[in-house]
Amino acid sequence: MSEPPDRSRPEKAVGQLVRSVTSAIVLAAGELPWCEHGRPDDGFGYWCSLRPDVIMCAFCFGAAQAMAAPEDFRCSACGGPAPDKDRDVSVAARLADWLGVYFFLCRRCCAADAAG
Ligand SMILES: [Zn+2]
Ligand SMILES: [Zn+2]
Repeated sequence: MSEPPDRSRPEKAVGQLVRSVTSAIVLAAGELPWCEHGRPDDGFGYWCSLRPDVIMCAFCFGAAQAMAAPEDFRCSACGGPAPDKDRDVSVAARLADWLGVYFFLCRRCCAADAAG
């Protein structure tokens, strides 16, 4: 069992940012192909910003995380680097019965409300 680390701490502006990113993902996800293994028997897949062009089975989702290089961790709001697991935010959410998502927000975007 490997669960994604739960470092999501949506607060104020961050919560807004998370909502806007997740709703964009939901809109796009229906159009995306499934990974090379096809849709699993339970029908549940993952969208991850490490591999944004497919919906992945659990195996591919795990592999995408295991094989990710630091430069693959990019903020889903601004596209900037978000490789620092202590300061950048990882968001894991279940958006629908069939779809889980995992993406990142850099510390700059998360501090947007503090910066004014
Ligand atoms: Zn797969
Ligand atoms: Zn950002």
